Amino acid sequence: MEEVIYFKNFINGEYVEPIDHKYMSNYDPSVGKIYSNVPDSNEKDINEAVKAAKEAFPIWSSKSAQERSDMLYKIANEIERRLKEFAELESRDQGKTITTATTIEIPRSIYNFRFFAGAILHHQNESTVGPLPNVLNYTLRSPVGVCGLISPWNLPLYLLTWKIAPAIATGNTCVCKPSEMTPATAHLLGEVFNTVGLPRGVVNIVFGNGPNAGSPLVRHSDVPLISFTGGTKTGEIIQQQASPLNKKLSLELGGKNPGIIFDDCKFEECVETSVRSSFSNQGEICLCTSRLYVQEGIFDKFVEQFVEKTKKIVVGDPKSEKSGMGALISEDHLKKIEYYVQLAKDEGGTILCGGKRPELSAIFGGNENENLKNGYFYEPTVIIGLNPLTSRVLKEEIFGPVITITSFSTEQQVIQYANDVEYGLASSLWSQNVDRCHRVASKIDCGICWVNCWLIRDLRTPFGGVKRSGIGREGGDHSIDFFTEQKNICIKI
Ligand code: NAD
Repeated sequence: MEEVIYFKNFINGEYVEPIDHKYMSNYDPSVGKIYSNVPDSNEKDINEAVKAAKEAFPIWSSKSAQERSDMLYKIANEIERRLKEFAELESRDQGKTITTATTIEIPRSIYNFRFFAGAILHHQNESTVGPLPNVLNYTLRSPVGVCGLISPWNLPLYLLTWKIAPAIATGNTCVCKPSEMTPATAHLLGEVFNTVGLPRGVVNIVFGNGPNAGSPLVRHSDVPLISFTGGTKTGEIIQQQASPLNKKLSLELGGKNPGIIFDDCKFEECVETSVRSSFSNQGEICLCTSRLYVQEGIFDKFVEQFVEKTKKIVVGDPKSEKSGMGALISEDHLKKIEYYVQLAKDEGGTILCGGKRPELSAIFGGNENENLKNGYFYEPTVIIGLNPLTSRVLKEEIFGPVITITSFSTEQQVIQYANDVEYGLASSLWSQNVDRCHRVASKIDCGICWVNCWLIRDLRTPFGGVKRSGIGREGGDHSIDFFTEQKNICIKI
């Protein structure tokens, strides 16, 4: 019988049991069974972790930028050395395919450390002379202190390291609260930190659910900064708790991202990329496209080819390199997807493909996938025929392998459709008319607009959302701004 894993918290450089010895079940989404237990930590564990981070702060913040940069490179190299192990853990824990974990998520996590290792050395502070000729102003930056870093389950290692790397590069220490549904790679990070000799207490990792562990971290008086990525409703609760305490706050929240496709797009490339932007990581990326708007002239041809390509996506065992899509994160999430597909039918939509759980054995042949029958798999689903202005399916975040395709006639009309939601995270836009690309991109409510591409990320650029998709920007100098306090020194010479 397979041994049941008990994850532990990582506090002050040591793996420790939760103080009250309480655990929660963690599922392998591809088989729908419990495979590990995650600490159900509470305020006491958070207090211990914050204490360790506070004690480590004077030591870590007094290191030079060069020393911190060296340490970040070592962390990156060590994750890279153990890439296969990280990828296998992530795939099992989250349900994503081993290919996605190996080629996208873990390499991008490594790059987070490398990027901020370089960024911290190249960053320059401002200085000015004026307003009088004998006055010099310069800016000093100091780390904020103990940072609370809270992350979701969809890209567990990537999104956590996107916060840890800039936080420690700038001299902060931190307490991380990863998603309780995907603890595995965060757990392994502790080993990496110890192997490379990161001083104790610089990064602490506490597992637990939102109310018991996340909330005490948000409310802790020794934690002046919270960086949160997750759902909009959770973000709003965190904002209510953190704002009266005057904390620095960055919220990266939900989305309902439009893809806008004009008649004059590069057709083949657009179809290919739009399938990828709809279904990568089972559609469980906050930047995935969830609503496609296609101009009338190419609508039928686009839908036909999009469906044809979608049907070729193999849903199956995340461990198999044959699989193009793995399992959804949880049974609850699977039910949520089913709810929205039913709602689409009730709203008069037509399901062109998918719309159900797959017959896995039919795809792979034989009984080899017998144990996957209780996994949380769902076919990539394409829906047309919904009312662009009133359909709830077109307005609410689904966060799964479901895409709607709607036709439009004019630029003005599609801008109205695209912006008629509460969210504003990402968008993509396809046209060969340069004027139109600039015009439309500037009018879409979003933090990032990809023109004739998707998911190309330059980590120097601002990342974040508008409307209910978040507050603040991270990335490059924006992260350095967020994770530091700036002080202006004005000297009369
Ligand atoms: P979630 O909001 O349920 O949980 C995110 C994290 O917050 C988890 O670690 C959870 O334990 C914690 N949490 C929950 N309640 C809390 C509370 N009261 N106080 C403190 N922490 C609390 O989100 P999820 O279901 O894990 O992730 C999916 C959501 O994340 C989607 O809405 C998706 O769009 C969003 N997301 C956004 C981005 C982005 O960059 N904007 C990236 C990835 C995911």
